Amino acid sequence: SPRSGVDVVTEALAEVHGRYGSLSDGRVADYIPQLAFADRDCFGLALMSMDGHGYRAGRCGVSFTLQSLTKPFVLALALAELGPDDVGRSVGAEPSGEAFNAISLDAVTGRPANPMINAGAIAVTALVPATSPAERFSRILECLGRFAGRTLYVDEDVYRSEVETGHRNRALAYLMRGTGVLRGDPVQAVDTYFRQCSVRATVTDLAVMGATLANGGTNPVTGERVVPEPVALQVLSVMAMCGMYDAAGSWMLHVGLPAKSGVSGGLVAVSPARFGIALHSPLLDAAGNPVRGVAALRELSERFGLHLMHNA
Ligand code: GLU
Repeated sequence: SPRSGVDVVTEALAEVHGRYGSLSDGRVADYIPQLAFADRDCFGLALMSMDGHGYRAGRCGVSFTLQSLTKPFVLALALAELGPDDVGRSVGAEPSGEAFNAISLDAVTGRPANPMINAGAIAVTALVPATSPAERFSRILECLGRFAGRTLYVDEDVYRSEVETGHRNRALAYLMRGTGVLRGDPVQAVDTYFRQCSVRATVTDLAVMGATLANGGTNPVTGERVVPEPVALQVLSVMAMCGMYDAAGSWMLHVGLPAKSGVSGGLVAVSPARFGIALHSPLLDAAGNPVRGVAALRELSERFGLHLMHNA
């Protein structure tokens, strides 16, 4: 008998989860000491469709800190509040070709290259309109929660670990204060950014967050419009160009979907108008992307013709 679409998706996730779950290459990030405690064997894969149907393989209910995975969603908030022109005065939208924590500031404008590198993300976080740092962070947390469809929380241990070791991020903020891109107190801007990086979510949450972008900014599970449609399009464009660290080019070549990864081993990819897919596996390749996840998504993309440039 013909198999339903549900069966096909469930089987495909189980298959790639099984095939790549045994890959043991890569390293768990430890430059933020608290991240080194991650379980290297953890691997979960979840897909959320536009009709709100979820599919899972492996460990999808374990939460981890989102780290850089928050960057596209906070960018969405800033774009929704301020519009692209205002945001564009503080941060560019060009792939930097440099490390995520590089001092990548334009010589003329002082702007960071894009919102997915740390400097750009710190600038974007500081742009979120608020009357106090506490209010700014609660708006960010609330927005991340609307993308996920549930209330999310900060991991205080990871937050403290970031505060204790994040000198380079503080330096980036001071440099941007110097070029005028960042207004207000640089230490406070980075503090808000550290809190944002320390927000915990599960693979399932992250799939819903991706699906909300795939769905033009409306959460397919809760039905809530989180950001306007043009904002989702802008965010996905930035993810497509700059979301996968310095492997963004080979990712686009082989997988062909807008995506973002983070140093804790999470990855979210978006098939516009179709689904969000997310995974967590802390073993990272040299570019900082989860080894098992990149392999799994490459296979899924090839098998199902998911590449954006696919001619069908
Ligand atoms: N909190 C981390 C940092 O700023 C996030 C890095 C990442 O996920 O790429 O170093």
